[in-house]
Amino acid sequence: MTKQTGNIEVQSENIFPIIKKFLYSDQEIFLRELISNAVDATSKLKTLSSKGEIDGDLGELTIDIIIDKEAKTLTIRDRGIGMTEAEVKKYLNQVAFSSAESFVKKYKDDANIIGHFGLGFYSAFMVSDVVEVFTRSYKKSGKAQRWECDGNPKFILEPTQKKERGTDIVLHISEDSVEYLEEQRIQTLLDKYCKFLPVPIRFGTKTETNYEGEGEDKKAVETQVDNIVNNPNPAWNKKANKLKDEDYKAFYSELYPYSTPPLFWIHLDIDFPFKLTGILYFPKVTNAVEVQKNKIQLYSNQVYVTDDVSNIVPEFLTLLQGVIDSPDIPLNVSRSYLQSDANVKKITSYITKKVADKLAQLFKKDRTAYEDKWKDIGVFVKYGMLSEEKFHDKGLKFGLLKNIDGDHFTIDEYKEKVKPVQTDKHDKLVFLYSNQKDQHYSYIESAKSKSYDVLEFDNIIDNHFMQHLESKLGDVTFVRVDSDTVDNLVQKDETTESVLSEKEQEKIKTLFTDAIGDLKGGTIELKPLSPTDHPIQITKPEFMRRMKEMQQLQGMQMGDMPEYHNVVVNSNHPLIAEKLIKMKGDKKNAFASHLHKLALLNQNMLKGEELSAFVKKSIEYMS
Ligand code: ADP
Repeated sequence: MTKQTGNIEVQSENIFPIIKKFLYSDQEIFLRELISNAVDATSKLKTLSSKGEIDGDLGELTIDIIIDKEAKTLTIRDRGIGMTEAEVKKYLNQVAFSSAESFVKKYKDDANIIGHFGLGFYSAFMVSDVVEVFTRSYKKSGKAQRWECDGNPKFILEPTQKKERGTDIVLHISEDSVEYLEEQRIQTLLDKYCKFLPVPIRFGTKTETNYEGEGEDKKAVETQVDNIVNNPNPAWNKKANKLKDEDYKAFYSELYPYSTPPLFWIHLDIDFPFKLTGILYFPKVTNAVEVQKNKIQLYSNQVYVTDDVSNIVPEFLTLLQGVIDSPDIPLNVSRSYLQSDANVKKITSYITKKVADKLAQLFKKDRTAYEDKWKDIGVFVKYGMLSEEKFHDKGLKFGLLKNIDGDHFTIDEYKEKVKPVQTDKHDKLVFLYSNQKDQHYSYIESAKSKSYDVLEFDNIIDNHFMQHLESKLGDVTFVRVDSDTVDNLVQKDETTESVLSEKEQEKIKTLFTDAIGDLKGGTIELKPLSPTDHPIQITKPEFMRRMKEMQQLQGMQMGDMPEYHNVVVNSNHPLIAEKLIKMKGDKKNAFASHLHKLALLNQNMLKGEELSAFVKKSIEYMS
């Protein structure tokens, strides 16, 4: 055969300029595309060999990436099936180019998907002036071929000298893409896209340092070894029963070097009705704020696709890390389509179920260990229960509530626990909680003195979670310990007698109203509490406080809602019922005001000038 030239059959005269411009930001995917082709060619060869269609040893199958700075070329070399002359004509001239053309037509307006779906072979032209292909088929007949194209629809095809089976794609890198002649840049791309491709990929050599000898004779010996950039057999591709805990942990650090080891993991492996493998890790996070999304990587047959899996896994699962590999997730379609794709929906619910099952299993198997991890996984479970109906149902079995004393309960257990004393007159269960243990100390103590139990909440998500449970469970309300006086936290029909007459009570109330002044919306109330309770208590009504917290959380600025609190005067406290009631003149006003400030101080609500005036006054009283 002699040299042939011809025109590649594409409709548009020249679509290179369009494609170059429109793909500019994602140019780098050319490398992934060409290496994927090389991997495919190698896998096909292995398949043929395993079927007995190729005799003998296949020899080395490593794919090489070679930079030649002087010649300004980047070469991707495989030892795969190669192409015959007819195949070059068919695959490169027809298939590659026509599919590229239709691709451009179809996705001109959807730049989003470019990162997911490449143009195959054609993408070589995004970074090259000229592309040369040297290829030799595994088939014995026929000669090696050289194909060349400079970005016009014209090509050259001629026989060439090439002894080894396989294909070299030689990119003559264009002036504005010289970055792809830099080792560092290529290494970065290989790390990003090729880390787990199933065929070894070599990028030159690297220096390895070993130590020889002992003691003073010990010396470093440097040797050059192949720089293999990928792990062709990643953990997620193995069967779960072949892997030990150490293997999972090792794979985790392969994915996320320098990270704290994960809490636990889930091995995904399903064949039907879709194919999906992967490992999802629960990272160690205690704080919703530090949670990082986009940590799950999506692969398709070990080819990296994206780290944005928001359409494939439910939002709450994006808190997890790890790898999902599925050739059944359509990558070449737009996002809105993906959301309605039946396969994707099945995948989503499969993953959700797997995660829920794993948590249920961990809880059942070793409750103590599970409780120890609760501070790390709590956020995740709560988030899941909030956002996914199905997960909520399952989560009722392993979602926990923790009380101030550090004991954990499932929701059902907790209901049983508090039922005898914390049922109110409307037959609702009142779950008491605190999210500021120290500040609420005295409230917690008085709740405990009534045999009430107090839950400990400490996360932003708890606000939502509590509201969620209220609406889901129906018979439960959450009340923060400082939202009312202890006798009123769980509203029952009990009333205590006041030792003061109505007239005396009226007098005390006026006294405090004068002494305290403007409460900015709050109220002053007299209550005949136990003589051993504090004389004055500050309360923050549950509803108002939650409203305010919600607003703050959503960053809403609905007017300037002041710090709102009520003052409850214990009319049965001896300081009031015996001492204050008998006082005369200015003294009684100062006394009432001092009691109020003590209560504020107890809540850390006395600040600045007021605080120092209060301290001064207290010293006066003592002397
Ligand atoms: P796709 O890979 O999606 O089929 P491409 O445009 O990347 O499309 O490639 C077109 C065809 O060219 C491939 O299907 C394959 O038959 C052939 N081809 C590309 N690269 C190689 C290679 N390195 N070795 C053998 N055949 C190849």
